[in-house]
Amino acid sequence: MYKCNVCGLVLNENPGVCPKCGGKEFTQLTDEQAALYKKSRETDILYIKAIKAAAKIQKLSDLGAEYNLDPNCVSAFKKFKDYGYLIEQISKAELISHSTKGKF
Ligand SMILES: [Zn+2]
Repeated sequence: MYKCNVCGLVLNENPGVCPKCGGKEFTQLTDEQAALYKKSRETDILYIKAIKAAAKIQKLSDLGAEYNLDPNCVSAFKKFKDYGYLIEQISKAELISHSTKGKF
């Protein structure tokens, strides 16, 4: 795997010219770095799926609260919405931390 020295784009092969920024210098990742990159990529995909699921939870929470069946039910849906928001925010923070901690 190769990382563009200018923008950090990681590709399986050295393209010669970076398709993102036009940079021409790449660094080959060590086996350890490549393994870390692959794990990070897989967990990033899971966080993206979690963000999508959290958005669905927040939407259904709004719908559930609108029924206004009783105070406990409305309270439960409001908690669901808060938890959905928390999952979304934690997932976003983890995605950012991956890119800033050398995990690409
Ligand atoms: Zn680049």
